[in-house]
Amino acid sequence: MDLRNEIRGMEPELLTWYHHLHRNPELELELPRTVAYVSGQLAAMGVEHRVLPGSTGIVAAVGQGPGPVIAIRADMDALEVREETGLPYASENGCMHACGHDAHTAILLTAARWLKAHEDTLPGRVKLLFQTAEETLQGARHMIANGALEDPAVDRILALHVGGLGGEAPAGHIVLSQGVAFRSSDNIHIVIRGRGGHAASPHLSVDPVVAAARVIEALQTLVSREVSPNTPAVVSITHVRAGAETYNVIPDQVLLLGGIRTVDPETREYLVRRAEEVVRQTAASMRCQAEFSRMDGAPAMINDRDTALRVERAASRLFPGEVHWMKESNGGSEDAAYYFERVPGCFLFLSSMARDGDGTVYPHHHAKFRLDEGVLWRGAAVLVQSALVLMDETL
Ligand SMILES: [Zn+2]
Ligand SMILES: [Zn+2]
Repeated sequence: MDLRNEIRGMEPELLTWYHHLHRNPELELELPRTVAYVSGQLAAMGVEHRVLPGSTGIVAAVGQGPGPVIAIRADMDALEVREETGLPYASENGCMHACGHDAHTAILLTAARWLKAHEDTLPGRVKLLFQTAEETLQGARHMIANGALEDPAVDRILALHVGGLGGEAPAGHIVLSQGVAFRSSDNIHIVIRGRGGHAASPHLSVDPVVAAARVIEALQTLVSREVSPNTPAVVSITHVRAGAETYNVIPDQVLLLGGIRTVDPETREYLVRRAEEVVRQTAASMRCQAEFSRMDGAPAMINDRDTALRVERAASRLFPGEVHWMKESNGGSEDAAYYFERVPGCFLFLSSMARDGDGTVYPHHHAKFRLDEGVLWRGAAVLVQSALVLMDETL
């Protein structure tokens, strides 16, 4: 069978799904219209599936083979961005698929269609995970809590991102990593409390503004003095708020928001722990008290090397010379990392940014973000070919 041509032949339907999803974006964990649409398409194909309560995701399964169980994950959520692409299928509801998750959903539906048509020949089973709330980093954990990786237990997992997140490569090419694909991300929330007063008599107050300034500077020594130069790591303070906009009042407290990003679990835990110590002790040295909390984040997204090597061979068979190893990990984060903490897998990138008339490429999350839809079928072909290879232990 010629998988590449068969899947290419499914492009018209893939694009119909893609355009429909693009026109009807929804946000966060509950995606009632999106889930109903995807569930309807799966039902029409005869693919067995289960919708999670509150339209918060779909778990589908294809195949009865005795071989390994391979999961393929697609996210389905959009962003609160007002679309400015001018596309004929542009969204008009104030939200936008500005990250390409609509393409992921259409690609996974296409993979489902091919797999269902060849169900009897599959050496193992494929689970299709249609996830919500990737942008808020909640969806993967929600899927796992709802048994997405169990019954049957998943042996390996695949996920794909369209657009330009894998680095520079011509549209249609595949990019993947043998290790870190995305970095970890932890948001930090800091409140420094002092005692306010008249700015003319600072000795009668405990000034949290000066303490906050020292905290911000001290945090900048963590990466430069305590992390190996070989380990990518970032500590940023992104928001500072204190008191009213006045000239003569020392406020009671200062709010600082920021984030910590790195590439391995040890450095991640080290930096969060040290950030808390530095914040508390620096504030204390200035007679202030500090609250430190770590908000929702995501671990680093790390590919299993063996899986990545097999997927690279599978992809190269379909697209010789058009598969590349990633030069450096993406500085952002991806909540698929939660699956990859539990199950070995491979996250791949399908390079697919569209160029505007004047050559401009608008990045992910931009109101003019656009994909080269002519290469999307390649994503389905690569995921299916990779799943086939991973289901057969001899390949
Ligand atoms: Zn995004
Ligand atoms: Zn995304």
